Amino acid sequence: MSLSHSDPTYNDLLRTHPAVTADPQKGLMVGSVALSTLAEEVGTPCWVINAETLRLRAQLMQQAFTDASLPVTCHFAVKSQDNQACLTVLGQAGWGADVVSGGELERALAAGIPADKIVFSGVGKTDDELKLAITHDIAQVNVESAEELHRLNGLAQQMERTIRVSLRVNPDVDAKTHSKITTGRAEDKFGIAYTDIPSLYRTAQRDMQGLNVRGLAVHLGSQISTEEPFRQGYTQLAKMVTTLRQDGLSVEDIDCGGGLGITYRNEIAPAPAMLAQVMADIFGALDVNLRVEPGRWLSAPAGVLLSRVIDTKQGTHQFVILDAAMSELVRPAMYDSWHGILPVHLPDAEAATSPVDVVGPVCESSDTFAKQRMLPPLKRNDLVAILDAGAYGSTMSSTYNSRPFAAQIMVDGDQWAVIRPRQTLEDLLACEKTPHWFTQGA
Ligand SMILES: *Cc1c(COP(=O)(O)O)cnc(C)c1O
Repeated sequence: MSLSHSDPTYNDLLRTHPAVTADPQKGLMVGSVALSTLAEEVGTPCWVINAETLRLRAQLMQQAFTDASLPVTCHFAVKSQDNQACLTVLGQAGWGADVVSGGELERALAAGIPADKIVFSGVGKTDDELKLAITHDIAQVNVESAEELHRLNGLAQQMERTIRVSLRVNPDVDAKTHSKITTGRAEDKFGIAYTDIPSLYRTAQRDMQGLNVRGLAVHLGSQISTEEPFRQGYTQLAKMVTTLRQDGLSVEDIDCGGGLGITYRNEIAPAPAMLAQVMADIFGALDVNLRVEPGRWLSAPAGVLLSRVIDTKQGTHQFVILDAAMSELVRPAMYDSWHGILPVHLPDAEAATSPVDVVGPVCESSDTFAKQRMLPPLKRNDLVAILDAGAYGSTMSSTYNSRPFAAQIMVDGDQWAVIRPRQTLEDLLACEKTPHWFTQGA
């Protein structure tokens, strides 16, 4: 498409981002709440999450599987957005959780997601984390190596328990996404090599008394925007199911992972119906229980990062310096990712756009949200909304440059609440201790 490298306009972005709407008087709104009101009341930078968007997308994805007559259990990838209020919304919508650490496991439980709806993935789980999974008898552990399989079996036997497991397969498929978020190539650290699966699965299912081996899992990568990688990866998995069954082994569960992409810029985002169709084509006749673990697709469009212009600066480039930084949203610095940026006060229809670099105040050149972005004039104290910040935003934040964690707000229709207060500088400093011998009198 000839437009594929040109940026969407203000109106294009509003059209592709229904979680945010434009009111001629109040400017940009999330639900029925004006972003300018939230900036006044809570300060900036802050994260604003639309609960209705989370609910709607959870329901849309479920519906896609129902429409394809495919029984699928949905687990939300907690690492994309871990605020307990968000997990509660999704838990109430019937979703389980996909966690990648003991901390996320505890968090999901605290948010009311039952243990039997939690799956635990991740390439390096400690003994303590595995014991936590066994203690809570979670739905399943997705095991990522032969070593972990033996360790988990040993721990379960010590505890005189059994734990349900699936083997995470590395299908050696290139998800054709950013190399830092592709996970299913042979050289990536994730999963068990395809050719190692048959013998390991046999040993685990026949000989490991602590394990209840249920099936296979895969996660190909993130922000996947075409159906081909899913088709390739799942086809590999289906072949493996047949191989294992021919060997007399039972395979009852397939965990299809996450990875469905969204429209940040002008990507033609695949719909859940595409995913459902691919899963139906490949697994429909296999008589297996299916799971998915999407994160970004649900949570990214539900959130914006609201920020105020600290100042502008005219140099070789025109700079707009925000009070948000890579310490809040690291994705542009880490993955060169593109996020829509909208002024909160609607620009005049006639206002000319001009190229600006939108940057944060952190002392790194990579603290840049956008380079040469065509935007209407922005001046000191104006507000901007950075779109699609609901996933891999707050969860990846740091306090680099002694910047306290930003506030998080949930909007639900005409109601809103702070779901994580802004960290105070006192709290930030109080975390640290001076060695006792520095303060003992001489
Ligand atoms: C990160 C991750 C997901 C979620 O990926 P999205 O691209 O956010 O959908 C799912 N499963 C596993 C194992 C993951 O590591």
